Amino acid sequence: MFTLAIVGRPNVGKSTLFNRLVGRRLALVDDQPGVTRDLREGQAKLGDLNFTVIDTAGLEDATDDSLQGRMRRLTERAVDMADVCLFMIDARAGVTANDEMFADILRKRSNHVILAANKAEGSAADAGMLEAYGLGLGEPLRLSAEHGEGMSDLYSVLLPIS
Ligand code: GDP
Ligand code: MG
Repeated sequence: MFTLAIVGRPNVGKSTLFNRLVGRRLALVDDQPGVTRDLREGQAKLGDLNFTVIDTAGLEDATDDSLQGRMRRLTERAVDMADVCLFMIDARAGVTANDEMFADILRKRSNHVILAANKAEGSAADAGMLEAYGLGLGEPLRLSAEHGEGMSDLYSVLLPIS
């Protein structure tokens, strides 16, 4: 049993992956000490793997001014709670300045990082996949959280951690 935190800037598809992994096994943790509603925790199932997954929410309604600080604080908290981080980018959008900021945090702070390029269904994602190598976090996992593609590759990278 391990804990996976899904981190990344807003709108890359973190909650879509969280929901896919958790299904209905959502355990809201608002009343646990030290955990606010900005982090959602659930029991994930992927094949025969069972693990805890944390979604960093609470970024969507931040103003541009407060977004970066809030992303940083939430992400650091999630990273500290987790054994492994899945850092998600949007393969259709390519690598953005905010993605670079996350990569910096994770390179300094994290245990074990899986780089995932989401929205990777179809050829519109090919350029973003190549850009993702430039983040210096290893080979990007090609995912489509919405369509359920790449889940067996995710399984393969999580299996040695379990
Ligand atoms: P979050 O802000 O990182 O939690 O992102 P969400 O999970 O809320 O997703 C943001 C938007 O991206 C939504 O409109 C999703 O439907 C869409 N989305 C998520 N995953 C995919 C995907 O694999 N492919 C495509 N094309 N869209 C996706
Ligand atoms: Mg979300």
